[in-house]
Amino acid sequence: MISPSPYIFVVGGAGYIGSHVVRQLLLDGYRVLVLDNFIYGHRDILEKALNVEYIEGDMGDRALLDRLFSTYKIDVVMHFAAFAYVGESVTDPAKYYQNNVVATLTLLESMRAAGVDKFVFSSTCATYGIPSQIPILEDHPQSPINPYGATKLMVERILQDFGTAYNLKSVVFRYFNAAGADPSGQLGEDHGPETHLIPLVLQTALGLRSHISIFGTDYSTPDGTCIRDYIHVNDLASAHILGSQHLLEGGESETFNLGNGSGFSVKQVIESAYEVTGREIPVRYEARRPGDPPMLIGSAEKASRVLGWTPQYTQINEIIAHAWLWHQKRHGNTSSFLSGDATDRESKDVFDVRDDSGYFNFRRASAA
Ligand code: UDP
Repeated sequence: MISPSPYIFVVGGAGYIGSHVVRQLLLDGYRVLVLDNFIYGHRDILEKALNVEYIEGDMGDRALLDRLFSTYKIDVVMHFAAFAYVGESVTDPAKYYQNNVVATLTLLESMRAAGVDKFVFSSTCATYGIPSQIPILEDHPQSPINPYGATKLMVERILQDFGTAYNLKSVVFRYFNAAGADPSGQLGEDHGPETHLIPLVLQTALGLRSHISIFGTDYSTPDGTCIRDYIHVNDLASAHILGSQHLLEGGESETFNLGNGSGFSVKQVIESAYEVTGREIPVRYEARRPGDPPMLIGSAEKASRVLGWTPQYTQINEIIAHAWLWHQKRHGNTSSFLSGDATDRESKDVFDVRDDSGYFNFRRASAA
């Protein structure tokens, strides 16, 4: 008798990373059930782009979870349903501890009651805080500098303890900066509000925003702006497939960094977006954003060695090109921004040229 393919329960499958993982799971022949409360996730992505079975509900709803686990024979749970706005986690930590920790504990408790013992968890490089070594390895001390990172670290600790006490097997992925979009243009990043660099830069290129703010130009980096390790969302998705295979094959609990191992500054990202889009991208230099470490670059050597994971998309231009395709489809290809008029636009700083050092200069249009 042919055994059915494993059943994966994707909590938060209508969000940015979750939806890309769902797509990859479906392509690979897994059975998939999504749970999403649609606070930040997108119903149209599940219905139109993915055509996947889903339940509308909250992972903190114990009765719902118990019903689902008794109805569906779930093999692996993947959890993408965290709140992830770092700034908001500082101003409203209760919201973050409630959802990211308390509701996650409810999910884990329901799994335990149902005898579901495999869990794939989206953690973050934000658990490391300000790194003392680059590239960051998994055994780097974890000392988060904001409540968001703290909630993720707490769940990591819960998973360790559940592993010891209840034999829960978990794969924890610490993402660096998720970026890009499925090359089909059907899925991508659409946060409301949007706070991430690449979507904001591309919305600026589309004319939906008057300018992109660069938060801090006085960091101890070559061009003074923060450096991040951007990892393509489909590479994150492929790691999740390998992580669940690892658990399904009886593998032990493990923690992995997921990054490209190379860093790009904020200015380099804007330069790449300029090359990809060919559009004007007005910028403004602004003060540092609180809580931003100057440089985050991860080593994913362990994921490569243990899971056989190799990122496919390592070029920043390619990552941004995929995101650009998505943004054009999602937002329409327009050149007029929603707020402000042409006069306003002329007063912004505009992209100019590279200087001899390879970094770029910006000038004010009005001073040109
Ligand atoms: N950033 C910026 N302007 C923006 C948004 C982000 O200069 O409008 C910078 C931010 O300070 C950080 C980098 O871009 O150094 C990446 O930020 P993002 O929010 O995309 O991801 P994070 O690293 O905070 O997870």
